[in-house]
Amino acid sequence: MFKVQREELINELTKKGISDLAVIKAIGNVEREKFIPKTMRHFAYKDAALPIGYEQTISQPYTVAYMTQLLNIKKPGVKVLEIGTGSGYQAAILDEMGCDVYSIERNMDLHHRAAKLFDKLGIRVHAKYGDGTIGWAEYAPFEGIIVTAGSPTVPQKLKDQLSIGGRMVIPVGDRISQKLYLLIKKSENEFDSEIIPEFTFVPLIGREGWKL
Ligand code: SAM
Repeated sequence: MFKVQREELINELTKKGISDLAVIKAIGNVEREKFIPKTMRHFAYKDAALPIGYEQTISQPYTVAYMTQLLNIKKPGVKVLEIGTGSGYQAAILDEMGCDVYSIERNMDLHHRAAKLFDKLGIRVHAKYGDGTIGWAEYAPFEGIIVTAGSPTVPQKLKDQLSIGGRMVIPVGDRISQKLYLLIKKSENEFDSEIIPEFTFVPLIGREGWKL
């Protein structure tokens, strides 16, 4: 189902500048309609964020594609930590690209819903309920970290849990608008960083994020 719409979405993303073939292929293979409420399914291939309940959203496909492209995944088995499982769509894209995916969600209902969906669809994601601002030390270091909610700063624990040479993509700013940061870890305390202009995300709430 929705094959034509998915192809149209891919054309739109390509026109907007998405060029990583592995990302494009993953978006072509993952059925976004499975990650959103049934009543919204006819909007699944609009390039738009959509509500998934609890005032949260499944990110816009362009944002998912852009952030994933920044991770620069070039081989299977890359270990990636996602903060903000939400619907599970971003994690499913990473799984489809062959990553070893760890994903944390602070909303218990969303966590359970996504974990159930991963099982049902055979998607291999290590999903955990908790505060992603403190990372997942047990499985660190990660070659990629992708934060899908807007943070006031880059949480120190996430910096610590990134491997040398690893890449972190994180929106940083105030509660209304954020800039996307790409950090590349050069040594234990040294990062190269690139700042990409305005994207808008729901807030990252937690010990090293926003307070409720
Ligand atoms: N990646 C998601 C997807 O593919 O559907 C989109 C996520 S939504 C834009 C952001 C998610 O981050 C929400 O589900 C929210 O509950 C979660 N979140 C916010 N603060 C968090 C935190 N400290 N730890 C883990 N998840 C958090």
